[in-house]
Parts: sequence; structure tokens; C-alpha cells
Amino acid sequence: MTDKGPAFCAGPFFSRGDIMTLTVKTHTQTEFLDITSEIQKIIESENISDGVIMLYVPHTTSAITINESADPSVKSDILMILNDIVPWNAKYRHMEGNSPAHVKSTLVGASELIAVENGRLSLGTWQGIFFCEFDGPRTRKVHIKSITK
Ligand code: ZN
Repeated sequence: MTDKGPAFCAGPFFSRGDIMTLTVKTHTQTEFLDITSEIQKIIESENISDGVIMLYVPHTTSAITINESADPSVKSDILMILNDIVPWNAKYRHMEGNSPAHVKSTLVGASELIAVENGRLSLGTWQGIFFCEFDGPRTRKVHIKSITK
């Protein structure tokens, strides 16, 4: 064994192009924005037919998740519970004053991997992709990287 090189080889895959970036403008302090159609448009404009896309949020007070997009009550219920379990007032030490947003970002996560089949996101019937703002309003970024056969 050597400590050089990758721990494993992914096989006959290659990276397609550079990282693409979607700009997301948020409007309130805490919100979920459905970005499914924007990601689908990028897949179509880049002619990605089969593979995997990685969505990555390069921020410490926002996140990305996949959940139900059919009933908007679901995202408001998730936000209600996140706000309950991560209160704004606690003995936080971070001087910027936005520790709850950092905690929520870590709980939800900074990335998602989604398969693409025949040029379409292979999401379930009720699933949508949500950008999660926890310290808005701000202008944010979502990086998109595709890995195709
Ligand atoms: Zn901070």
C-alpha cells in the first residue's frame, strides 16, 4: 500500500466540464426554495443524459435537501421543527450572532447526489430539491458538478 493516489478507482467515468453555479436569491431569514426546475434546466442545457450530479452549497449558514415538494406544508413543518430544536437564544459563543444558522446548516447538510437518467433527474414522484436558507436574505450559490459515463 502507498499513501499516494486515490483510495479506490471509480472505473470508466470522467468528469464532464467545469463546475456550474446556480445563483439563488433568498428573501427571508429562514426559508426553503424549490430549485428542482432550475437544476433540471441546467441538465438539459448541458446535455447531461445519464450519470450523477452533485449539488454542493459553499456556505456555512445554508444547506441543501431533498423532500416533498407537492404539499408546501411539509417544508414549513420541517422549518418549524428546526427552529424548535435550534433556538435563536442559547449560550452560543460565536460572536457573529448567527450560530443557530450554522447548526442548522450542519444538521441538514451541504450536498446531495442525484442520478440522472435519460436527461431527467431521477427523483421520486413527490420529491423536490430545496435550497435551505438559515441566515438570509442573501445571494447564495449552488455548485453543480456532473459525472457521466
Ligand atoms: Zn457566523
